Amino acid sequence: MAAPDCIFCKIVAGEIPAEVVYEDVCCLAFRDINPQAPTHILVIPRKHVTGLGDLEGAEASLLGNMLAAAAQVADEAGLTEPGYRVVINWNADGGMEVPHLHLHVLGGRKMSWPPG
Ligand code: 5GP
Ligand code: ZN
Repeated sequence: MAAPDCIFCKIVAGEIPAEVVYEDVCCLAFRDINPQAPTHILVIPRKHVTGLGDLEGAEASLLGNMLAAAAQVADEAGLTEPGYRVVINWNADGGMEVPHLHLHVLGGRKMSWPPG
């Protein structure tokens, strides 16, 4: 289930500290170590899945749980009314650095479009 040398699997296992703001049977959410907005939270599945471009079978259903968790985390951070952005990066051109599926929840400032 956990992948060796995966930073996010180590956070799920409690082997690396993280500022966890939400958890349920499927997902964990914690503050990004290098925030790109006043609120920057990552939502990950407990199960190791590489990313959006590598989902197999039932793994796609994780995304529904993750998005529901993201909306709850954003609401608890006071972002529902002002607004926020949810991002998934995949592979080199997408800017993916950690190969364990995750949503970025970004808020607390006006987002620009198109993203860089
Ligand atoms: P990606 O570029 O893969 O979409 O995003 C990976 C994110 O994970 C980055 O925003 C990065 O700052 C964050 N990150 C990398 N290592 C750690 C860590 O050890 N702890 C936390 N909380 N965030 C991390
Ligand atoms: Zn992992």
